Amino acid sequence: MAGGLSGRWLLLAAAGRGLRSGQAINKAFSPVAGVCPLLRCLAAFRESVDGAVVIIGADDGSLWSSIEPVARAILPIVVTTGGATRRESVARGLDKLPSSASWVAVHDAARPFVTRELIDRCFAQANETGAAIPATPITDTILQTSEEGGGIISRDKLRAVQTPQIFRVDLLRAAHAWAARIQADATDDAELVRRIGRTVALVEGDPANFKLTAPNDFAIAERILFQLEQPARSGFGMDAHRFAPDRALILCGVQVPHSLGLLGHSDADAAVHALIDALLGAACQGDIGRWFPDTDPAYKGISSIVLLEKVVGDLRVRGFTPLHADVTIAAQKPRLAPYIPRMRETLARSLGLSCDFVNVKATTTERMGYVGREEGIAAYAVATIQPHRLSG
Ligand code: MG
Repeated sequence: MAGGLSGRWLLLAAAGRGLRSGQAINKAFSPVAGVCPLLRCLAAFRESVDGAVVIIGADDGSLWSSIEPVARAILPIVVTTGGATRRESVARGLDKLPSSASWVAVHDAARPFVTRELIDRCFAQANETGAAIPATPITDTILQTSEEGGGIISRDKLRAVQTPQIFRVDLLRAAHAWAARIQADATDDAELVRRIGRTVALVEGDPANFKLTAPNDFAIAERILFQLEQPARSGFGMDAHRFAPDRALILCGVQVPHSLGLLGHSDADAAVHALIDALLGAACQGDIGRWFPDTDPAYKGISSIVLLEKVVGDLRVRGFTPLHADVTIAAQKPRLAPYIPRMRETLARSLGLSCDFVNVKATTTERMGYVGREEGIAAYAVATIQPHRLSG
């Protein structure tokens, strides 16, 4: 680990309700360009700390469960729930630090643009002084308003304070113990450390490390992130199933009237299977057989749309967002044209896309090959996904 500091831990504050953000859920869990700020923060700290204490809200258990496997793949994690105030939440997080932790970086989960450069700059300064925080100069003109009139405030001595705030663990513990004794109100850990008479060094902050606060901040963050992301990727999938009597014919999640259905462990929807393989191919995540073995009784007779939605959900938390899909079904019979609009709608819903980004087409093979002899149906798919920073 760089900088000669061992025992570095992240304390990620994600318990705030974020009522100003206009998000329906805790903003730390609210996806920005496909990936929630909490996961983006963990990924940013991955190379700089040994582990993370994540402080979530008391009601956030199911939100946390939905991202937990991905979070734990990034860093060793201890989870705890926050208290009534930010100070109590951070104090609870401090209690959960392992005894090996000698440095702690307190970071706000609503700052997903934190970079490794800023993190390491703060750690390096803290190594000299015991405590360091990033701050940026104020560039806007600051006007104080009051009933008596107010006026412009000189901004020369003003700084906007950011996170991560880095402290020696014993120093931050002492500050919180003092604050708990006098029930000090503080929204900023550095302020508590200063109030027990210790110096906190200022490090040059990063204007891009802004905090998602107002609803518009999420729109700005989406625009920035989509420009920062890697190029989109495509994958290809192919599948074929044999006709069998006494089976429903399901293609792209739509039941098509026919005298025969397709044989398989699931509902044998070859078109959806091809699409799943295309998505997994784009994400370099193996194939459908590895994800859903046909020896597993859990998948017997299952709707392939359920499998598709599971794959899409899993890829999303890993940092991949579907952008486009194109499916071709090869069938001599039955005629599929009347069902194609519903097939597109069904796939689009499962992919979280508008119908304008999903195409389904059908062809015969002019009576050639196994499809032409009406032994079964084949399907081919191409899918494109957008990787986000998490998927590295
Ligand atoms: Mg199949």
